[in-house]
Amino acid sequence: MKDLEKFNELVNAFSALPTIGKKSALRLAYHVCIKDPLLGSKLAYSIEESIRGIKKCIQCGALSENELCEVCSDIERNSNIICIVQDPKDVLILEDSKSYDGLYFVLENTNEENITKLRVMIENKNTKEIFFAFTQGLNSDAVIFFIEEKLKDLNLSFSQIAQGIPSGVSLENVDFISLHKAINHRTKLD
Ligand SMILES: [Zn+2]
Repeated sequence: MKDLEKFNELVNAFSALPTIGKKSALRLAYHVCIKDPLLGSKLAYSIEESIRGIKKCIQCGALSENELCEVCSDIERNSNIICIVQDPKDVLILEDSKSYDGLYFVLENTNEENITKLRVMIENKNTKEIFFAFTQGLNSDAVIFFIEEKLKDLNLSFSQIAQGIPSGVSLENVDFISLHKAINHRTKLD
């Protein structure tokens, strides 16, 4: 209906979200507007606040509301190993799986600045192993090779998440048991 301009805008906003179709969008908009407007207001506030509060850890690039993320500031974590992921979201998934106790580094791209950041972290933490948790995308092998080359003077061992994560599937679509196996049976790279 044309005289529901603002409401329609809300429906459109919902339907722009991943996995939300037009019908679900309409249902959600109706719910937060008409059925439970208090929840709607809370949701709006919470979205605004988390956008404002969230930033990237200055050391590893994971999401945090502080300068240093929870993992980087936890002295109990195993600093012998750094897991390299391609997306900050992957850190959340791996943490949820509770299968890994080392540190992370988010490598969103392979520019010099990022590589230098990674080197500094490895040297500061006296890290021994680099563990790539990339899902097999188009160029993941090339990126792994590139990083190994860049770090070859640091006397590190390299490993990769075990096969069994299907090619092209994002970590968020892998169940926790498979993820646990893939981490604990990681393969050494030579
Ligand atoms: Zn961090």
